[in-house]
Amino acid sequence: MKRQIIIFGIFSILIVFAQPAMADRQGFVRTVVIDPGHGGRDPGALGAQSKEKDIVLAIALKLGGYIESNFDDVKVIYTRTTDEFVELHRRAQIANENKADLFISIHCNSAANRRAFGAETFVMGLHRSQENLEVARKENAAILYEDNYLETYGGYDPNSPEANIIFSMYQNIYLNQSLTMASLLQDQFRDRAGRHDRGVKQAGFLILYNITMPGILVEAGFLSNPQEEKYLMSEMGQAHIASAIFRAFRDYKNYQDNLVAQQLENNGSIYAKSARHGSGVSISEDNTGLASKTKDGPIISFRVQFATTSQERAVDDPVFKDLQGVGFYFHEGLYKYTLGNESTVESAGQIQQKLHARGFNDAFIVAFKDNERIPLADAIKLIEQQAHNP
Ligand SMILES: [Zn+2]
Repeated sequence: MKRQIIIFGIFSILIVFAQPAMADRQGFVRTVVIDPGHGGRDPGALGAQSKEKDIVLAIALKLGGYIESNFDDVKVIYTRTTDEFVELHRRAQIANENKADLFISIHCNSAANRRAFGAETFVMGLHRSQENLEVARKENAAILYEDNYLETYGGYDPNSPEANIIFSMYQNIYLNQSLTMASLLQDQFRDRAGRHDRGVKQAGFLILYNITMPGILVEAGFLSNPQEEKYLMSEMGQAHIASAIFRAFRDYKNYQDNLVAQQLENNGSIYAKSARHGSGVSISEDNTGLASKTKDGPIISFRVQFATTSQERAVDDPVFKDLQGVGFYFHEGLYKYTLGNESTVESAGQIQQKLHARGFNDAFIVAFKDNERIPLADAIKLIEQQAHNP
């Protein structure tokens, strides 16, 4: 019986909140929605001396200011600019109605272990660890401050262990763009803001579930860690965090805008080639060698890694479920199996989605420079540079 209620809940949520998947926003980055978490009667995480709602608002306003003063062509929209309570579905609605090109939700973490510290960025997806699930559960609990949350969210109850079932049906059509932004941001947190890099993660966040554009949820640091709380409360700390997000936004916008400009040039229409939503996307077995060398530059390629073993397996091993064109590389003592060899991260994203559909839920994109594994963000930057100096 309980299951039936939950299933009913799934459909209600889909009906009420699911936006048409064809709402394609493969365009220039012109509108960004900045979402400071919590507010008003919902304080968010509590530090010894601070509340999450105040810190994330300060960071959000700084970030918006940096974007506005550096980009004439970008409209900044906030889900709140004061200490007010904004319902979670309303936040998503603001982003969807304004046809935002990117959504940035800003939060701070807390943990029972006071030593936990560092910054992490989430994109919508299935959690791979209990720890990630716990972060999403805490943030989703914001709806408990809403009057009719069960009704509004189709029976979704953040406290129910089964609640996350709805997220397993989720198809993140903006996963690649969201991952690009997330990984650019973690680079900035690590290299520019000197934060401990906790990495790019996935979990089922209601707020990201309900938006119809690429989006990330930033956990800027732990208010439960006394040193980090002090940093996050300081003017300097807030400016560092905001400027890290700003720099990642700038790099993401450059990357995305170049990509769109290139596609416009190549195809006349950016939509002509945009096949990433349909079920018609197929794993192209003849992709090998697609990654091409531009004049004098290194060869940058993207593959989708879906399995790792300590012992080599034949590519026709049953574990590969009859996938064609499986390749592997040896890295850090392990055999890592991949599909595709693509010149763009988008094209690799299509293969990744197909692999997810085949049950390889953990498949993710890896990048190579002249066949050496490199960080994804580095590869994207190199491609961008090559685009500038053809
Ligand atoms: Zn939060």
